[in-house]
Amino acid sequence: MRMPDLAAEHSLAEVIPVGLLTTTRYCWAGCAFCRLAILKPKWDLSRAPSGLGPDHLNAIDFQAVREVRLRGGLSLAEPFDYWIHVIRGLRKAYAGPITAFSPVEIWHYHQLEARPIRELVRLLRWAGADHLGPGGSETFDDTLREQWSPYRVTRVEWIQVANAAQEANLGISAAPIVLAGLTTGTWRDYLALLSDFALHHLEFKPLQSQGTRLSVMGDASLLEVSQAVDEVHGLVPDLPLYVRWHSQDVADASEILGAAGACALVVTQWEVSP
Ligand code: SF4
Repeated sequence: MRMPDLAAEHSLAEVIPVGLLTTTRYCWAGCAFCRLAILKPKWDLSRAPSGLGPDHLNAIDFQAVREVRLRGGLSLAEPFDYWIHVIRGLRKAYAGPITAFSPVEIWHYHQLEARPIRELVRLLRWAGADHLGPGGSETFDDTLREQWSPYRVTRVEWIQVANAAQEANLGISAAPIVLAGLTTGTWRDYLALLSDFALHHLEFKPLQSQGTRLSVMGDASLLEVSQAVDEVHGLVPDLPLYVRWHSQDVADASEILGAAGACALVVTQWEVSP
């Protein structure tokens, strides 16, 4: 394992504070690595109370963040057009970058409402979203996907939605999950599947296993994340690499992951959730 050379001249990874708007309290997809997960579809969720609404936007400190991200789970409570109105309201209230939903939610609404993918992603763009989120790109390994998230979009479906989003002029990114045992070959295969996309960035998602079905695996360590960043930076040196960072030790992580090749740590400044 190669350790980053902290003595060499290098940049710190900058810290990007983001605000999260979470649309629902539960998600029927049941992904093994997710705290919103319930294990199988429950039609009762259609009677769940509405989650986030336009009123929530009034109480938000937009000055404190450099990006706002609206994210699922998969809810049966509100239709897609409800969220288009929320994003329109968000766009009026906030001038910075907005990331809204991901191929996972777009595929869900595509099936639930029998609407074309292109229509959904164009509506997102029209409402004011700048980027589609990376959800569904945690791994493209078919065996792991079957074990962890069998109800979610397949690799082929993810690519289909991402292509439509790119055509609609939405920014695209990917967020591979980081855990023990990833190899150079893993990263080569992962990046090969994304080679047709003009990715805005790649955002590592260190496994946070507490409260999920993967809790026995523990959380990804800083060393594992650093190794992943170093591997990918060696393979695609021009691609901006971000790391979603949840721990307190931001200064250490900025130095170590910056030395490995990350240009930014994404930290949650606030979250509004139902
Ligand atoms: S689809 Fe997304 S929100 Fe739903 S369980 Fe999977 S990771 Fe969680």
